[in-house]
Amino acid sequence: MNCILNLSEIGDFLKTLKIGKTGKVFILERSGQLVATSADEQPFYRQKDEPKRLAATESRDLLTQATANYLLQQFGNLNRITTSQQLDFDIDGKLHFVQVEPFRDDKGLDWLLVVTIPEADFMEQIQANNRMTLVLSFLALVISLVIGILLVRWITQPILRLKAAATAFADGQFDRKVELERQDELGILAQSFNSMATQLQEAFIALQKTNEELEQRVEKRTLELKEAKETADAANNAKSEFLANMSHELRTPLNGILGYTQILQRSKSLTDNERKAASTIYQCGSHLLTLINDILDLSKIEAGKMDLFPCDLYLPGFLQGVAEFFQIRAYQKGIAFHYHPAVDLPQRIQADEKRLRQVLMNLLGNAIKFTDKGSVTFAIAVEKHQLQTNIYKLRFEIEDTGSGISTEQLEKIFLPFEQVGEASKQIEGTGLGLAISQKILALMNSRLQVQSELGQGSKFWFDVELLKAGSSEKTASPPQQETIIGYRGQRRKILVVDDRLENRLIIANMLQPLGFEVREAQSGQSGIEKAIEIQPDLIIIDLAMPEMDGFEFLQKLRQQSQLTATIAIASSANVFASQVQKSFNVGANAFLPKPIDSGMLLDLLQKHLSLTWVYAQRSPTEI
Ligand code: ADP
Repeated sequence: MNCILNLSEIGDFLKTLKIGKTGKVFILERSGQLVATSADEQPFYRQKDEPKRLAATESRDLLTQATANYLLQQFGNLNRITTSQQLDFDIDGKLHFVQVEPFRDDKGLDWLLVVTIPEADFMEQIQANNRMTLVLSFLALVISLVIGILLVRWITQPILRLKAAATAFADGQFDRKVELERQDELGILAQSFNSMATQLQEAFIALQKTNEELEQRVEKRTLELKEAKETADAANNAKSEFLANMSHELRTPLNGILGYTQILQRSKSLTDNERKAASTIYQCGSHLLTLINDILDLSKIEAGKMDLFPCDLYLPGFLQGVAEFFQIRAYQKGIAFHYHPAVDLPQRIQADEKRLRQVLMNLLGNAIKFTDKGSVTFAIAVEKHQLQTNIYKLRFEIEDTGSGISTEQLEKIFLPFEQVGEASKQIEGTGLGLAISQKILALMNSRLQVQSELGQGSKFWFDVELLKAGSSEKTASPPQQETIIGYRGQRRKILVVDDRLENRLIIANMLQPLGFEVREAQSGQSGIEKAIEIQPDLIIIDLAMPEMDGFEFLQKLRQQSQLTATIAIASSANVFASQVQKSFNVGANAFLPKPIDSGMLLDLLQKHLSLTWVYAQRSPTEI
């Protein structure tokens, strides 16, 4: 009995143990009988007043019963459990954990301490913990989100305000300020921004003011410049007009001199000396004409309108002509003149005769002008001849034993209006010759060079590359040497309309001996009437005439149905390109500059009337 009492005490003790929520602890004998249990039952029962031990498998407590069954099923016999066991098993699909601990002592006790506990007991706690963790995490997230949003707003709001102010600033609203009552970095930034805005506003106001002032000044200056340009244009026009008029005034008497000299040269009754004299008159007249043209060139050079017009040139004849002209001048001055053309000088080359002559005239003129004793040498050398391309590189050299030029003066002589040396000599020139020559040579891809020693003399030279003209050697002889005495075919009628008798007579005297029927009219009006009456093959019309001038004449002429196709050659001493173009615009077929060159006139007649010339038979000695 003592023993039973003790067992129930152990049971009471076990009941005080907290095994999870629904877990049980019980003690088994190896026979499977309960010794004590934490379940709410006694480990014994009474049968016929006899106390009987309760087997664990018969326990009313389902967990104890199921655990005992599981242990028996697992080990077959409880004696087999010798060591501590940790097991688990299912009851109705729910996991239960079992801990079995064998207990033995030297007094004979051999028990098994079994603790069984459903997984749900501690999982519930764990799940409760998990739920709590989730709730706390979610709470932390919400709090951090709220804090984050507030923080972001706290930082971004002022930045957005700054941005809005900067945008307004960029749009020109300089009075826009950022209101930010903060002492941190953003507050300082806003203050800096505001002070920058104030400074910028001031700077812009100042800039705007300066700009306005500048605009006014530019406007004023533009107006002044416009006025200055108008004045300069007017002055330039006046200069051009003056030059044109001057050249016209000088060309008109020259036309007479040169025209009649050419007629005189054709006369068969002249002696050799008279013919030479006529030739000298012609050359001097031509030189004068060249000088007039040079004055015109000046205005062209200044306006940058000078162009080269290369044409076929019989070089030996051309150079001979230039040399002869200066030979006379040298002779008159009592100095020697040496002309040294190269022996292999090309016959016909392509060059702008007028410009080449202009340069040579200037250099030779200077050489003679600045040489009082000794000599002037004019030499032409062939530096190089490229057979394939037919290009000749020629060196033109003018050397004198004259006054020479000092080294510092040499630097200035190519500048316009620069004259150095003796004052007496300066009166003769203008100081433009070398400047013009240098510019012309630049157009020919060449450059004028000089070597000089004061008191010893000077040497000027330039190299030019010139193309050989024509391909056949036959053309090498100058055509001028052939004298035209007439033309084949029917007689042609030429009407000359010019208010000046001498001009009309020059043309008549040039053309009548060749078999042309030359008719004259002294005014535009009478010219139209005569043209209708005689129906000429060709009309030569002077452009500068009182009342009806040449332009009006040409316009009226082209209005006459029967005269629309008649060839009309405009002629004038005013050789400005604008005048020439104007004459073409009103119906001229060609332009003939005055003083009239007979060769050019005949060329024009041949071209427009399709003439075949008859030449004078050469005597055997001439050939
Ligand atoms: P100018 O009309 O005065 O001759 P240029 O332009 O032809 O003008 O020449 C400019 C200056 O160069 C001349 O005034 C002269 O002092 C100097 N000069 C040119 N050629 C010679 C020369 N052959 N000998 C000495 N001085 C020369």
